[in-house]
Amino acid sequence: MSRGIYWFRRDLRLADNPALERACRSHDELLLVYVDEARDAGVTAGRAWLRRSLDSLSADIARIGGRLHVLAGSAERVIPALAGAAGAEAVHVSALHEPAADARDLRMAQALARDGVAMRRSAGRLMTEPEMVLSKVSTPYRVFTPFLKAARPGWRHRPRAAPERLACFGLPSGMQRLQTSIAAPEPDWDRGFWEVWTPGERHAQQRLERFLERLDAYPGERDCPAVEATSRLSPHLHFGEISPARALEAAQRRGGPGADKFIAELGWREFAYYVLNHWPDSTTENFNPRFDGIDWRHDEAWLDAWRHGRTGVPLVDAGMRQLWHEGWMHNRVRMVVASYLTKHMGIHWSSGASWFMHTLVDADLANNTLGWQWVAGSGVDAAPYHRVFNPVAQSRRFDPAGAYLRRWLPELRRLDDSEIHAPWETGASPHGYPARPIVDLATGRAEALERLARAPKPA
Ligand code: FAD
Repeated sequence: MSRGIYWFRRDLRLADNPALERACRSHDELLLVYVDEARDAGVTAGRAWLRRSLDSLSADIARIGGRLHVLAGSAERVIPALAGAAGAEAVHVSALHEPAADARDLRMAQALARDGVAMRRSAGRLMTEPEMVLSKVSTPYRVFTPFLKAARPGWRHRPRAAPERLACFGLPSGMQRLQTSIAAPEPDWDRGFWEVWTPGERHAQQRLERFLERLDAYPGERDCPAVEATSRLSPHLHFGEISPARALEAAQRRGGPGADKFIAELGWREFAYYVLNHWPDSTTENFNPRFDGIDWRHDEAWLDAWRHGRTGVPLVDAGMRQLWHEGWMHNRVRMVVASYLTKHMGIHWSSGASWFMHTLVDADLANNTLGWQWVAGSGVDAAPYHRVFNPVAQSRRFDPAGAYLRRWLPELRRLDDSEIHAPWETGASPHGYPARPIVDLATGRAEALERLARAPKPA
């Protein structure tokens, strides 16, 4: 009788999960676990999602005869102890492709090997293993388009079915004390999330199906925040409730310019992981060292106004309020709010990135780092620093009727379309809303450019 352990991490699904398939093939019985290591890390939107996603996965597993155990503790202690007590031959995981987590896997594999237990890591989170794609001179790509050109031909996929049955064994005696469950946030500040989201594999697949029906409109409408034109798959992809390869295959089957654009966006996710793996310091350090010399502003009051949607710039405030309510923000608006913080306000991108990591249900180290460094101008293949998004022009262009602004800023609902994007321009001062932007747009832009000009060029 061969026994194995399946350790779920960010692959909270049964279908199209190569690691789980391998585990089922390799053993007669499995112990299915999730290790909750972040109990003391504070409340985050991602954790609120995780709680529901695990509930959904548990129910799916129970339907096919298995049981998921959620355990508390440090995985580096819990997993080897479990493997020893259960007499398991192997521990199976999906690779995370985050440098710190991968280094930990390596340490754990070595520790397990000393006890005669194998650690089997399978791919599934990405379509391109970061080390497999290099330029002609064997260096990593720093620019997205050539990366995509090199990586994309390898993206072919036939989705695998979920196991029909799961033969599971129970926790070894003495280990029951580790059983836990993830508590609901107190008070229930996450309730707005569940008006728009349902975590779990089934809902991820349904979201993909619904999106495919609108795929042809994706290239034309994906930048309009008032329109439900993008897939909204990001939290499902982050938690591995659906594989990127499945989304790819479904889009390829559908075809057309919508599919092409959508696959390129999945490509940005691949590129974000690629950059993170080749430049692990990019999560905290400016990729471009010139940005180390910028005189960043430290202003808690401004940062607070930005976080809570009180800057007086309607598109920025609408985005920040959508983020707070739904745990998500439209991509175009993410760029605008990030630009306002880093350029107009002159606050370092890491302050914004850390707020996003707390408040986004799709908070993802790789994608978030790439997004922030790109907007700030400090990253690989970044927007040039002198490109300062004008939030009013963006709002007029991508939300001309002000539908997105009215949805998130009740104070501005009565303003007409010509006033709503920049109420201070016409002297409209809506009750309860800042009379003018905390940082004037023209001044903020000029100061941002001066700030960079003053930064010494690295030798
Ligand atoms: P779609 O347009 O339907 O795209 C499909 C998928 O492609 C997305 O789910 C996502 O996985 C991937 N994708 C799309 N655009 C990007 C991109 N620019 N970079 C990387 N992957 C992309 N995305 C996150 O998943 N987590 C984050 O923490 C995150 N932080 C960001 C921070 C900033 C400042 C910016 C500018 C962007 C950030 N993004 C992040 C990228 C992007 O905004 C979201 O992936 C996208 O808005 C999710 O919506 P969607 O699923 O409807 O996207």
